[in-house]
Amino acid sequence: MQHLYVHVPFCVRRCSYCDFSIAVRKRIPARDYVDTVLTELRSSHATIVDVQTVYLGGGTPSLLPSEAIQELLRELSPLFRVPRSDFQVEVTLEANPEDVTPDNAHAWHAAGINRVSLGAQSFDDTVLQWMHRSHDAARIGAAVHALRGAGIENISLDLIFALPDELHRDWERDLDLALALRPSHLSLYGLTIEPRTPLDRWISRGATHAPDEERYAEEYLFAHRRLTADGFVFYEVSNASLPGFRSRHNSAYWSGKPYVGLGPAAHSFDGKTRRWNLRAWEAYRRAIAEGRSAVESEETLTEEQQALESVYLGLRTVEGVAVAALRRPSPPPHLAAQGWVYEEAGSLKCTPEGWLRLDSIVNDYDRATY
Ligand code: SF4
Repeated sequence: MQHLYVHVPFCVRRCSYCDFSIAVRKRIPARDYVDTVLTELRSSHATIVDVQTVYLGGGTPSLLPSEAIQELLRELSPLFRVPRSDFQVEVTLEANPEDVTPDNAHAWHAAGINRVSLGAQSFDDTVLQWMHRSHDAARIGAAVHALRGAGIENISLDLIFALPDELHRDWERDLDLALALRPSHLSLYGLTIEPRTPLDRWISRGATHAPDEERYAEEYLFAHRRLTADGFVFYEVSNASLPGFRSRHNSAYWSGKPYVGLGPAAHSFDGKTRRWNLRAWEAYRRAIAEGRSAVESEETLTEEQQALESVYLGLRTVEGVAVAALRRPSPPPHLAAQGWVYEEAGSLKCTPEGWLRLDSIVNDYDRATY
């Protein structure tokens, strides 16, 4: 079984908080991009068969013309697991709201896209401008309606929380507006200050302030209560879904399954070795055009690293990590005493308060266990 990620690096501008590997372009070199990715696919040493999920992520995959998306999926589909009546390959497209027109939505659906992850981020126009997003709040609702109208029901919304105080962002209002659109899935990310982003520069020169940890914790826990009351399950620290709508692709990452990545900066993992492609679009394109490997580097995890990674990934999820798989079967006592972890049905799990401290919990575990 395989999970396939395709990285589409293009964006029309850089959002204020973003440090992803992107190529800012007014005109998207779609023909060049599709040819390059398909060449990488054909020359890939990985045996890609029995694909169960495909994720077109970015960057902004929805900037590709719909014909390019159709061509990509047409070429990939022979690798898909043969559908059964009870199984459908999950094909996700990351989209920005301004790209979701009724025509595009119909073309994506016809191409095989059955899940869309929409970069909403906020329903406050002032906040969206501050983020350098290229949509306004009204576009988010229009995008959801266009997707539904085209038959794409599995819709996820991304929202960012813990913004600087001076923006006066009303988090409760944003969650209410998101829920009113009846998405099947929500991904919530706390704002982080990444080096060399516009936001990092604004903070360095005192033009804005880094969000505080208290706001982060308050908004995260509020969202947890609010979404749970609406029938959502936080099945991972940052992801909540209605029953039956978990992201199968991302769940594969969190359960340590192998995956293959195509495109610049894409990562692949075979269960032991992780490889990643050249980050910059031009360097990646040149390597493929010259018949060289696009892999920039790789690391093979030691047994200890694999064990620690499985603790980290397991604790991110609602399933937790099997106690039997831990070298030290009971958690360091102070973690349980603080109410950050608990044991249930043979697994160690984080509470929402624990998820706020996931890194330090895993560090404590690392020191205590290995
Ligand atoms: S659209 Fe996404 S990938 Fe592109 S700059 Fe904004 S946050 Fe980064």
